[in-house]
Amino acid sequence: MKANFHTHTFRCNHAGCSDQRYVDVAIEAGIGTLGFSDHAPYVGFEGDFYSFYRMRPEQLEDYVTSVNELREQYKGRIDIHLGLEAEYYPKLFPKLLEFLKPYGIEYLILGQHYLDDDQHGMYVQWVNTEEDMVRYADQCVEALETGAFSYIAHPDIVGLDRKHPAFRREMKRILECSGRLGLPVEVNVLGIYRDRIYPCEEFLDLCRECGSRVILGIDAHLPEQFTDAPSIEKAYNLIEKYGLEVTETIDTTRFLRYYEANT
Ligand SMILES: [Zn+2]
Ligand SMILES: [Zn+2]
Repeated sequence: MKANFHTHTFRCNHAGCSDQRYVDVAIEAGIGTLGFSDHAPYVGFEGDFYSFYRMRPEQLEDYVTSVNELREQYKGRIDIHLGLEAEYYPKLFPKLLEFLKPYGIEYLILGQHYLDDDQHGMYVQWVNTEEDMVRYADQCVEALETGAFSYIAHPDIVGLDRKHPAFRREMKRILECSGRLGLPVEVNVLGIYRDRIYPCEEFLDLCRECGSRVILGIDAHLPEQFTDAPSIEKAYNLIEKYGLEVTETIDTTRFLRYYEANT
């Protein structure tokens, strides 16, 4: 694995270690391009509901400073990029953009963990009806179509039964939208590492059917994930089993350009 654009930091409250340790272990694993994409702070929520799984707005400056310092410090040894993983909440998104403006974030990945628009939204792993599956797909498609995101992380995090016909139909809409926009879709290695419901074979089979380009995302919440050969090997085996085309690059300045065009 030469590149990984899905890396968290301690600021989201459920990932460990120092930022530097992620870089050191990534180098040890032979990774040449490392993107940090911690869970974006969201502004506009009432109260503190989400603080257990994302950085607070006042931590963003420290995150950006730290990643940029590491980028300088490690120049010539590893290419470091500054990103964020964010949900798309239609009503709050303009506020997020305004908030992120001064920080020079290079890219966003879409990690849609909740439906709707606020802290009362449903956790997507609880989705178990066709109606909610449609809402999930609508929200992902609308997000990707903004042009702000470089790819969608773990599209198959959604909880609907894989045998439900709406799983295939709606997941295909997300894959076709990604394809239309020239974006890869992620095969999430953390899901393998933690034995979660994703990545699932039904999803990989749909990637094959749609001719989707895939990208591996370590989704590192611990630096040791970079050197965990079994989970990475299993991901490659799955990709090979379904004959998928893998990419190791993303549009790392997509969000910067989105800004220029939209603000
Ligand atoms: Zn996380
Ligand atoms: Zn993540």
